[in-house]
Amino acid sequence: MPNAPDARIHPQLHINSYGNYLRRRFGIRVSKVNVDAGFTCPNRDGSKGTGGCIYCNNVSFSPKGTQAVVPLEEQMEAGMAYHRRRLVSNKFIIYFQKYTNTYGSIELLSDLYQRALHHPDVIGISVGTRPDSLSDEAIDLLTEIAQTKYVCLELGLQSMDDAILGRINRGHTLDDFIGTVNRAAGRNFDICAHLIHGFTGESSADFLKAAELMAGLPIDSIKLHQLHAVEGTVLAEQFRCGEFIPLTLEAYIATIADFLELLPPRIAIQRLYGSAPLEICIAPRWGLKNNQMWYAIVNELTRRGSWQGCRLPDEPSTLIVEHVRRVENAFLGGAGML
Ligand code: SF4
Repeated sequence: MPNAPDARIHPQLHINSYGNYLRRRFGIRVSKVNVDAGFTCPNRDGSKGTGGCIYCNNVSFSPKGTQAVVPLEEQMEAGMAYHRRRLVSNKFIIYFQKYTNTYGSIELLSDLYQRALHHPDVIGISVGTRPDSLSDEAIDLLTEIAQTKYVCLELGLQSMDDAILGRINRGHTLDDFIGTVNRAAGRNFDICAHLIHGFTGESSADFLKAAELMAGLPIDSIKLHQLHAVEGTVLAEQFRCGEFIPLTLEAYIATIADFLELLPPRIAIQRLYGSAPLEICIAPRWGLKNNQMWYAIVNELTRRGSWQGCRLPDEPSTLIVEHVRRVENAFLGGAGML
């Protein structure tokens, strides 16, 4: 193995887990509490697209109980009580998860984020959004909040292949993502990227290129998911007519372990798999609980005697560096909001 494990790599987990990152940063256990702030999505309401991403059924994103009709403060109390009981956590990050959580007026965003931060046990917020739905005003708002509280901006890329992004009706491009990461970077808040593996037409080698992309961008953490079809989505129909063939568990574990070996240790791992309520999850159904999925990947790294970043290339990929630079130049040259 060319690189010795970095101090951030947990000796048993073989990765820089986000839980450990938070513990190092705050000195205590911190839990994320999901809330539904009642946003919608520009890829559903017609302003960017209609129908949404082919895998999108937002029920699968949220644990039971986070309904938009429930006031934010009530959702927070219920979520914090759950984490206090189950995980003995006393400090929390409020996670604005469902739909596109920067898609609203700056007054609305400010009100929601500040209400979340008002609770004495809340140390920060995490805001999930699309790369094409983050205004300069929203970035300034998050920058201001980050002066006193923890802020994590979660940006969905899902695939770095524009052809796949088109086929899944994502409604944005790789360049949108790179441009937005660059606009948001250096603002004293964290940036998290979301990726999905298992799209039709994507090989394991294709997916691994995204590790090189992440290495070349100012990304602080990452969430990895398998593509799964849930009830009520276009993807579920594609599965039923044989157009979507899900990955096997073995293939997913092998590729994610490869991906982690290529990922810099500075990038904390927030998720290694996606989960959806069993009653609506159609495929794949691997039959593992969340902690079993997590340890299936950790065990694969252990079996290999490898760890996050152990196969990090000495030099970043020239193709990726040139692509990122091209987008930066286009942005600096006045291409406007990407
Ligand atoms: S961007 Fe997110 S909320 Fe919007 S359609 Fe896609 S998956 Fe659903």
